[in-house]
Amino acid sequence: MTAAAPTAADYETVIGLEVHVQLKTHAKVFAGAPYLHGGTVNPSEITPNTLTDPVVLALPGALPVLNKAALEQSIRFGLTTNAQIPAFCNWDRKNYFYPDSPKNYQISQKDHPVTLGGEVEIELPAPSRNIMGEHKIIRLNHAHLEEDVGKLTHAASSSLIDFNRAGAALLEIVTEPDLRSPDEAAAFLNALRILLVSANISHCDMEKGQMRCDANVSVRLRGETRLNNRAEIKNLNSISGVKNAIEYEARRQIRETLAGQTLPQETRGWNANSNRSYPLRSKEDAHDYRYFPDPDLMPVRVSAADIARLADSLPERPFDRQRRYAQQYKLPYTLTSVLIPDRPLCEYFETALAFYPDNPTSLANFIANDFLGALAADPEMRSLHSPVEAASLRIPPAQLASLVKLTDQGTISRQQAREVFVEMFATGQTPESIISARGLHQNTDTSAIEALVRETLALPSSAKTIAEIKAGNLKAINSLKGPIMKATKGTANPALVDKLLRKHLEAL
Ligand code: ADP
Ligand code: MG
Repeated sequence: MTAAAPTAADYETVIGLEVHVQLKTHAKVFAGAPYLHGGTVNPSEITPNTLTDPVVLALPGALPVLNKAALEQSIRFGLTTNAQIPAFCNWDRKNYFYPDSPKNYQISQKDHPVTLGGEVEIELPAPSRNIMGEHKIIRLNHAHLEEDVGKLTHAASSSLIDFNRAGAALLEIVTEPDLRSPDEAAAFLNALRILLVSANISHCDMEKGQMRCDANVSVRLRGETRLNNRAEIKNLNSISGVKNAIEYEARRQIRETLAGQTLPQETRGWNANSNRSYPLRSKEDAHDYRYFPDPDLMPVRVSAADIARLADSLPERPFDRQRRYAQQYKLPYTLTSVLIPDRPLCEYFETALAFYPDNPTSLANFIANDFLGALAADPEMRSLHSPVEAASLRIPPAQLASLVKLTDQGTISRQQAREVFVEMFATGQTPESIISARGLHQNTDTSAIEALVRETLALPSSAKTIAEIKAGNLKAINSLKGPIMKATKGTANPALVDKLLRKHLEAL
């Protein structure tokens, strides 16, 4: 008897990612030329070849000097991913000829990278957006600091080169082959982006090329532990591109394997228009690049004191914060999943909470619905570099806390609070002044309302309604409320009016 031949369903996909992120630094990694990363300006929209200097352009005699901020951002990345920070690291020349790099080599790190190992926690997509997905740990191999290259634009009969991006600080983050599906790869990139943005390490805006990814893909029969030859798909610049490329590539490899082909180790490109990967070259090996230590740059020693200082500069990790919100404040997943990706929003929430700690869920609800709703409806604010900070100047956390408290206490209804919020956002006034200017106070003065209830029941015109109610038509009670609401200009607390009417009707 022979085992049944394997089918496509018997294969699993094995994925390792190499993610390039531009670090948030003001200058380039080995030059004083500005980069403006972190401002609202997109460097690629600046006049070409203005963010340069002799080092970036590799003019004769220009020497590189390490930008300490770039090294520190790399170490902070290592610390927030629980990586090892070796006591020293150094720089190597990766030699190749291509017009986007005027030196004909890229300064990178080969044998002594700035971080080793580490891990990133990811959340897999759940069947519904309202429930938490499964969490998984993806191991990192290492991360190394290198320089970005220039940008080529090819026209019909010429090519243009812009060196604005050349020399920008680039951290290459290399995972272990721990990912098993396109969804897991997307979840990894999302988690990495939120982690880096919240720690102020990078903006990770994929549209601006601040986060780019190569995906290494191989397939094997489920249960096998050996790694098969892989294809490395270069330069994926959107999450959907990563997902589509992996999906296509896995299907292609399974098909070829089932057809009896042995897959080569190769480098492939991705065509997002035709949704296909295509061969670029057979995989290059490290020795092809003739790596050697860059004689222009000293190795760097990283002290324990530096590491301690940088560790202190890191915020709580997003998933840790999410667990804390669930445990400490009993916030539901539907709210934490909105707050957590946005650190300024979390800080706004926590500051407001200090002013009104009684009802975290109610406060988080106002932030997730009214606050974010107002921001989304204001294109001018949305376009700002830090919209949450700008909005929190209009509605300081203490005032949001007051509004939520007034609502919880029943001074105004939730619907009225929505309107007050919109006016607070538009004018920057306090909730108290808006409530009194609009006469929104709900009247909860029992004796005043009770007097109105008595008056209303005594009206000759009420007699018929009262008889109907006594006959069992309880709904008719609503028509007695009209005169009371009218007399209080709509401010009477509806629940209180209802309660008092019932009490007095019973006594009749
Ligand atoms: P290189 O040095 O040639 O770039 P590495 O061994 O450093 O190769 O691996 C680069 C990336 O490829 C890593 O993210 C790693 O996890 C991934 N990788 C290695 N082997 C495989 C494989 N067989 N299938 C999928 N991914 C792999
Ligand atoms: Mg590689």
